[in-house]
Amino acid sequence: MIIIPFRKKELVLCQLPGLSCMGCCTEPKVKDKKIIEDQLKKNSERFRKTKDPHKFALDSGEDVASGSKICKTLIKEGDKVFCPSHPLSPYTKGKDMREYCIKDYWCATMKEFRTWPEERQKKMIEWIKTKNYNWHSYSLANDTGKSIKEFIEYEKKNLG
Ligand code: SF4
Repeated sequence: MIIIPFRKKELVLCQLPGLSCMGCCTEPKVKDKKIIEDQLKKNSERFRKTKDPHKFALDSGEDVASGSKICKTLIKEGDKVFCPSHPLSPYTKGKDMREYCIKDYWCATMKEFRTWPEERQKKMIEWIKTKNYNWHSYSLANDTGKSIKEFIEYEKKNLG
């Protein structure tokens, strides 16, 4: 069965223009940037050879990569870190081609964010843009709950 967890037109923190999060694609917590980057290079190279997002997901298997502990279906193109088998990736035309993912998973940050009205969500996204995150620091901030905690503090001080 195909499960796409996003509600139609739902705002999510996972992929923003120019900023990616991969906080829940690693086990158990986001690790050292260099170690993850090395694994991302291997995964991306494998995907370049396959060019088939479904085969790529199947070949990745259900185990995370040893050492980096990240999902083997995760790739990096430019600054963007993402799953090419995800329904919102540019390679799947809206189909969910993931195989071993917990497809309806949300981190604690997203669980809270999803309960907010859209206006508040947009304010957080605007605030995130001012933070100079890169894919790694952003993933860490979402995974640990730091991003939403800091935004709520910012809201209290600046948005009344
Ligand atoms: S850690 Fe949270 S924000 Fe990041 S990709 Fe997973 S669900 Fe999305």
